[in-house]
Amino acid sequence: MADKTGSGGTSSGGESPRADTARVAKVAAGLDWQYAPAPESRDIVSIAPQYGLFIAGEFAPAATGRTFATVNPATEEPLAKIAEAGSEDVDRAVAAARVAHEQVWGPMPGAERAKYLYRIARILQERSREFAVLESIDNGKPIKETRDVDIPLAAAHFFYYAGWADKLDYAGFGQAPRPIGVAGQVIPWNFPLLMAAWKLAPALAAGNTCVLKPAETTPLSALLLAEVCQQAELPAGVVNVVTGAGDVGAAVVAHPDVNKVAFTGSTEVGIAISRAIAGTGKKLTLELGGKAANVVFDDAPLDQAIEGIVNGIFFNQGHVCCAGSRLLVQESVADQVVDRLRQRLMTLRLGDPLDKNTDIGAINSRQQLDKITELSAAGEAEGAHRWSPPCELPERGYWFAPTVFTGVSQSHRIAREEIFGPVLSVLTFRTPEEAVTKANNTPYGLSAGVWTEKGSRILWMAQRMRAGVVWANTYNRFDPASPFGGYRESGFGREGGRHGLGAYLDV
Ligand code: NDP
Repeated sequence: MADKTGSGGTSSGGESPRADTARVAKVAAGLDWQYAPAPESRDIVSIAPQYGLFIAGEFAPAATGRTFATVNPATEEPLAKIAEAGSEDVDRAVAAARVAHEQVWGPMPGAERAKYLYRIARILQERSREFAVLESIDNGKPIKETRDVDIPLAAAHFFYYAGWADKLDYAGFGQAPRPIGVAGQVIPWNFPLLMAAWKLAPALAAGNTCVLKPAETTPLSALLLAEVCQQAELPAGVVNVVTGAGDVGAAVVAHPDVNKVAFTGSTEVGIAISRAIAGTGKKLTLELGGKAANVVFDDAPLDQAIEGIVNGIFFNQGHVCCAGSRLLVQESVADQVVDRLRQRLMTLRLGDPLDKNTDIGAINSRQQLDKITELSAAGEAEGAHRWSPPCELPERGYWFAPTVFTGVSQSHRIAREEIFGPVLSVLTFRTPEEAVTKANNTPYGLSAGVWTEKGSRILWMAQRMRAGVVWANTYNRFDPASPFGGYRESGFGREGGRHGLGAYLDV
């Protein structure tokens, strides 16, 4: 953002003297150049004015006749009207999934199911640009992330689980493990297509059929995926997509003919779902929030660590359940790390999500922007020091400048609550024991990072940090073969890898 020196921004601390000097030196050396705009064309995507529900292999309006709008969060432009499912539609979707499970998908040999999954994976690759552009428009995330992360990983999940479909006997769940039946799957808005892939691919590989409820603000890529299911000639009813708000998710979860519930989203809704299905015998996996510690020791390779910190919290505008939102840095290098981090943040580019140079896109919704704004104001009010690089925010749409809080104590709300935005809280520690105590001082337990050159210290930390995933000298790395999930208020159950199959088998 060094090149966008307008007012805007939310800096209340100003640039550090060292960063300021570095920038002046760059200008003097004639190196302070601007990127030319490099927008990806929207032409590859055709957004219909209206979308129906996807039930039994067909798109159809909701029985209620009601619709809601999905908007581009970068411009507030309405994109399309989306059918709002009612309980009658959910009944139809679950019934279609039940018939497909009993008559087609359940009895089908795994090797045959695999062919459909491979086909879906290949179509995702073939149509990857279309998906990347659509996801950026509907979600607000930068095209370089949808293009290089979301879409390739979604395809990789289908490829990976296609490989398991005919090998379930050898997956460690006993001979001929059986599918559970109909899976009700509710997903959030932060990785719309990827979360759909995380849910659908293992469920289908294991022989289940699905009713998927995408988030209200980001339904378009799930609906395009439904089109891909048609293109792949997936038998009708194997995948059904019902769109709408939280009440539609609640209806899917509570439906008596749903056998398995998989949810990713807030801890609050996760708890409501657990209550709703308690005593029903439905299988449940919950992937909820997080407040991860990213721990930097004084012997860490600092250049890489800075990149890891930036990737940890500013990737996807910080809308990441496993985001490294608490930076724990060893006191002896704290000033140096914060200083270098600020310099790095001044080079990030915020703006048009479809521009290939953009690092930080739009916040997904007005509601989420309000939440980030409120929690950041609480950080200042509680005495932490707030800093953002100079940065012009676009006039329309939902935007929040990357923000770093220093002088944060463990009792501050910004150190305890999930902000789910581009806001980093910096805390310090002196000894490894103190780092572990502070890292674990959270009700969550989804992920953590550790930066040090000592392998023994990585193992020592990984054994002690209560987190489902611990990254060492890297952050936010995902692979379909690697299980992902949390402890405590971050939920339970694992997605990805062999473990992810277990959640969809009657074991
Ligand atoms: P929610 O948990 O409300 O939404 C996740 C999904 O659940 C959406 O599809 C939502 O529908 C649906 N849903 C909402 N209420 C119910 C219900 N009672 N029963 C079944 N499904 C339901 O997250 P929000 O989008 O409201 O975000 C709020 C906060 O949650 C964020 O600020 C963030 O802190 C956290 N969050 C965490 C995520 C994670 O990956 N860990 C992902 C998203 C949010 P609809 O979209 O229509 O409301």
